[in-house]
Amino acid sequence: MMHELENNSYPVHREYLIQLAKKYGTPLYVYDSCKIKKQYMKMKNAFTGIENLIINYACKANTNINILKFLQNLGSGLDTVSIQEVELGLKAGFHPKRIIFTPNCVSIQEIKKAVDFGVRINLDNLSILEQFGGYYPDYAIGIRINPHIMAGGNYKISVGHIDSKFGISYYQIPHMKRILKNTGLKIEGFHMHTGSDILDIQAFLSGAKVLFKIAIDFPNLDYIDFGSGFKVPYTKNDIKTDLTSLSSSMTEEVDNFCKNYGSKITFIFEPGKFIVSESGYFLVSVNVIKHTTSTVFAGVDSGFNHFLRPMFYDAYHCIENISNPNGRFRFYTVVGYICESDTFGLNRKVKEIREGDILCIKNAGAYCFSMSSNYNSRYRPSEVMIFKGKDFIIRRRETMQDLIRNIVYIQHM
Ligand SMILES: *Cc1c(COP(=O)(O)O)cnc(C)c1O
Repeated sequence: MMHELENNSYPVHREYLIQLAKKYGTPLYVYDSCKIKKQYMKMKNAFTGIENLIINYACKANTNINILKFLQNLGSGLDTVSIQEVELGLKAGFHPKRIIFTPNCVSIQEIKKAVDFGVRINLDNLSILEQFGGYYPDYAIGIRINPHIMAGGNYKISVGHIDSKFGISYYQIPHMKRILKNTGLKIEGFHMHTGSDILDIQAFLSGAKVLFKIAIDFPNLDYIDFGSGFKVPYTKNDIKTDLTSLSSSMTEEVDNFCKNYGSKITFIFEPGKFIVSESGYFLVSVNVIKHTTSTVFAGVDSGFNHFLRPMFYDAYHCIENISNPNGRFRFYTVVGYICESDTFGLNRKVKEIREGDILCIKNAGAYCFSMSSNYNSRYRPSEVMIFKGKDFIIRRRETMQDLIRNIVYIQHM
């Protein structure tokens, strides 16, 4: 179905989502490419004060190759954390030099593969740095610095504090310099990433200051990468990272640094959630309404095998009953069909839910499909992308074949 262009975009109407649920079945992920583009442009436009600023989409948020391609066409680079993400990025058409590989606790073998692919490599521990320098003294690398900042919406996603496993501590810079001297290895960039869902822009600014302090001693760097952690709203009046005030303070810091630094340098942000979270809608069908002594449950055809964030991070995702817009509000606990507690939303005010209704879970574009599994031997959902006003299936629903593809049978059992 073609949509009218409203405010330069194709709005995702409730009726349209219902049509998609009918056409492709549930559970179903739907991504609105217009929203992805809007978010990409919003970030790009917020930082126009910084010359040579690029955006590297952090693809672990959502690695569907169509989304990677879409962002590549917009001019984005790519932030990757595994060699498989690197390969997906290359398949999507990213130039190797537009891909930064920032692994944590991976083997030197995996890093060697990244060298073979020719992508940029960003190391975060001294042991691997020393080994790497022994093998590839001429392959300039980036260094992930741990700026010792506690930031992020949840301890699991706070990755820049002093006891975090990520990054090389800035107190270890003397040791890092010794390794560089001993191996002849060159540094092309410095990087930090302190967490996800960061509200306090001070976390970005303090981190940037730490990077600048270190970088000033390294002439001819290619880039300084400020990482990500931009918070998006999960509800109507939810707070989000204030890009405008971040941009003005950040631009000032960057200007000061550039004056002292001399040579030209690229600055990078690597948002994942900010780019894709709000573009996604997760559609599920209600299988059963069940009353207990205290609660009305709405049980849906999905669970934490498909959508883990509420259970793993206590994340709040809006839930709407899109098939009963005129119903009156009632209270429900929306749960999945997994044989373990898997609550999507506790005691939520939702338009009256009937068996067979379709619920829409919002902010489903980031860390949703990409964290899905086959637990309970369920198929993972299919994915649809709305592109130029039309819907395209971008991942088929799985089948029994997918579940047993790699099984090897023991003969004569
Ligand atoms: C996960 C990750 C990001 C993206 O974080 P968001 O909160 O999704 O923006 C960026 N950089 C690195 C190194 C990451 O691991």
